[in-house]
Amino acid sequence: MRRYSAFAVAGEALGWHQGWERAWGSPEPRSEYDVVVIGGGGHGLATAYYLAKNHGVTNVAVLEKGWLGGGNTGRNTTIIRSNYLQEPSAAIYELARGLYEDLSQQLNFNVMFSPRGVMMLCQTEHELRAMRRTAHANRLAGIETEMVSPEQVKKICPIIEISGPRYPVLGGLWQPRGGTARHDAVAWGYARAASDLGVHIIQNCEVTGVDVEGGHVTGLRTTRGAIRTRKVAAVVAGHSGVIADMAGFRLPIESVALQALVSEPIKPCMDIVVMANTVHGYMSQSDKGEMVIGGGADGFNNYNQRGSFQHIEETVRALKETFPMISRLKMLRQWSGIVDMTGDRSPILSKTPVEGFFVNCGWGTGGFKAIPGSGWAMAGLVANGEDPVAGPFSLERFREGRMIDESVAAAVAH
Ligand SMILES: Cc1cc2nc3c(=O)[nH]c(=O)nc-3n(C[C@H](O)[C@H](O)[C@H](O)COP(=O)(O)OP(=O)(O)OC[C@H]3O[C@@H](n4cnc5c(N)ncnc54)[C@H](O)[C@@H]3O)c2cc1C
Repeated sequence: MRRYSAFAVAGEALGWHQGWERAWGSPEPRSEYDVVVIGGGGHGLATAYYLAKNHGVTNVAVLEKGWLGGGNTGRNTTIIRSNYLQEPSAAIYELARGLYEDLSQQLNFNVMFSPRGVMMLCQTEHELRAMRRTAHANRLAGIETEMVSPEQVKKICPIIEISGPRYPVLGGLWQPRGGTARHDAVAWGYARAASDLGVHIIQNCEVTGVDVEGGHVTGLRTTRGAIRTRKVAAVVAGHSGVIADMAGFRLPIESVALQALVSEPIKPCMDIVVMANTVHGYMSQSDKGEMVIGGGADGFNNYNQRGSFQHIEETVRALKETFPMISRLKMLRQWSGIVDMTGDRSPILSKTPVEGFFVNCGWGTGGFKAIPGSGWAMAGLVANGEDPVAGPFSLERFREGRMIDESVAAAVAH
């Protein structure tokens, strides 16, 4: 595939941009693949890319029932950080954050990674203690974060009201190399690079059944015909329970809608990401100038992909106290995605009771940041049957009571 470069753009400009090829192929499905990845979100596409790049497994198909990134990958608020508490989490989230640093160069696709800094506000004494603990844990894990004072918070982000009235800012956990990336571009970049290595990207292809013989997966039934394979990676986020049901086992996952909204575009006023867990909201400013606002997950299980008025009101009301300037903003649009929540708020990258059938799910409200690391680890697991980074996130942990509790790090949807 032709590389994107300044020379390529200049050359194409001379020819009225008629020579660009499609960013990724759109082949007819073969009757058999070595590995089939179900789900064309960021995690599925990254899994396919690293299977080909790191392990030389190229006879791979990614099956997506809609369009690439049409699930949570294209619906999230794009926050990237790695300031988690537990060691296995630090390993996978920091691997991902590190890979984001030069992902545009690696994929030859501008994913617009913007390490602008992420601030997690502390607005109660309890939160202050919890974040101090996280800062210590991060230091031990080699992750660059620090606690900052209310005055430093105000200096870094002047639009924050630090004096209350209900929840004054008592400090903040600051990760200077956290930030954002363009969500669609992450999916498209991985799709293009995987396609270039020979992976088949097949959109509008829904998996409707899983064939299992003698306890081993043998194939998939899809809306575009049957496909034989001995290895499947199910990477379908909020639909993980549905796919597991087709394969004949159950997952400790709940699916709920998580909502977000954006305001009308305004002049630049905020050049970092701020998360306010106590009042339950978070905000950053997009390159277009819109304030990107996220809140909590719905309080009941559902498969909705729509926003609700109640959530706009709740989230904006919560944030208004800390960011009084948003009270005069008009909100432009809202939406939601179906997120997959585990009890310990950590993901599952695992073998399953069906041999050859692997799952990658449970990223809940915070898996965008993990896409490169998750794809890297999942590819190792699928190719070799084990992976050091994926290991702790196996399904076994629920049976053994070896939870990876990240309820503080994931206390606000992000
Ligand atoms: C509003 C919102 C805000 C968020 N904010 C952040 C944030 O700021 N930072 C962060 O790190 N994370 C955030 N997240 C979470 C993040 O978006 C997800 O964890 C991540 O995108 C999951 O990626 P995925 O590839 O696993 O899933 P998805 O992107 O959902 O991809 C799964 C794909 O599987 C496909 N699929 C399902 N069933 C089938 C089938 N039967 N056959 C074929 N294909 C199928 C779906 O169509 C979908 O495209 C947010 C999520 C939401 C909804």
